Amino acid sequence: MANIQSLRGMNDILGSDSELFTYFVENASRIAKNYGFTYIETPILEETALFKRSVGESSDIVNKEMYQFIDKGENDVCLRPEGTAGVVRSFVENKFDRAGGTYRWYYYGPMFRYERPQKGRLREFHQFGCEVFGVSSVYEDANIIMMIKDILDFFKIGFKLELNSLGDQNCMPAYREKLVNYLTDIKEDLCEDCNRRIETNPIRVLDCKNENCQKLLYNAPKITNNLCEKCDTDFEKLKEILDFNDVEYEINTNLVRGLDYYSQTAFEFTSNEIGAQSAIAGGGRYDRLVEFLGGRVTPGIGFAIGIERLLELVKMQEDEKDVIYLGALCEDALNILTKIASKKRKDSKTFIEYSVRGFGKHFNLAEKQGANIVALIGENEIKDGTIFIKDLKTKEDKTIKLEDF
Ligand SMILES: [Zn+2]
Ligand SMILES: [Zn+2]
Repeated sequence: MANIQSLRGMNDILGSDSELFTYFVENASRIAKNYGFTYIETPILEETALFKRSVGESSDIVNKEMYQFIDKGENDVCLRPEGTAGVVRSFVENKFDRAGGTYRWYYYGPMFRYERPQKGRLREFHQFGCEVFGVSSVYEDANIIMMIKDILDFFKIGFKLELNSLGDQNCMPAYREKLVNYLTDIKEDLCEDCNRRIETNPIRVLDCKNENCQKLLYNAPKITNNLCEKCDTDFEKLKEILDFNDVEYEINTNLVRGLDYYSQTAFEFTSNEIGAQSAIAGGGRYDRLVEFLGGRVTPGIGFAIGIERLLELVKMQEDEKDVIYLGALCEDALNILTKIASKKRKDSKTFIEYSVRGFGKHFNLAEKQGANIVALIGENEIKDGTIFIKDLKTKEDKTIKLEDF
């Protein structure tokens, strides 16, 4: 019988990868909590309609990449392709939009996209993200950006921050019209995707990856030159706060999101360390998304970090804490070791070897477990109430009173 394997594009996370994974999630969570965020967990499976409404029917994600199926109760359901939609659904469902106030939530977990498998693309991948509701102040936009910077700094990841403003209901429609006029004139020279988008989603033409298109777009009208007074003042203020806090950024007027509920601040953190200019985190304001999903108008802003991609860059900081290996030199020592272990485990990683061995064998096993302290008890130690300790790094050993260990 053939062995069963994991599904295409879906990986186990284990060994050193899982250590890195938890190291990232624990520290990113800690930083988010320091910024006042609390954890939210939403279901992995949601109604397909949720993503059609929030991610948008015209997007590639909804068109081609949804992990969608009909369940046994005839419900049209989908494994979540991203995290924001479920969080907003929960926000509205729990009537926080009616209660008012400020909500800061972070989440992490698996996301699914049914993509054609290719190198580096997973069908199950993980994101860490944050969403804020009820804050319209541009200081929150700066707060979010500085939090991502803190996370990347903690993991010693070099990055470039790109920034744009997408305007709002007030100034975006007029800009869109200007852009469509410009694009219609150069239509013949733009690629097929761009031509389709002029009709469906003209703003997305700006981030076409085709080099020829980018050349032609060089003189296209820029959103940042077409902002209304409020959007312009907010954008200037955001830049001022970032400057004041020594956060470096570049303005990229081609950094866009294709959906109507996005407004004003949009940002992306990229890194050169994994291939050419890969995005590692992105987000922005979505002041109309709650309304799009049936709630009361509530300002919102959020971001997501792709964990797998980031882990290629995370260097684990050397853990200074002792890892202790406890071994028995005689059968009677084992019970004593269980007692020592339960004390030591209050703040150190501690292993017990259950088989009685000699010194040399214990040292070998301890090294394999990644321990730096070996502590052994035999008949003599039991008699004297002592324990034998060896530091595997300095190679020093000594026998000390058990209560001093
Ligand atoms: Zn194009
Ligand atoms: Zn505006």
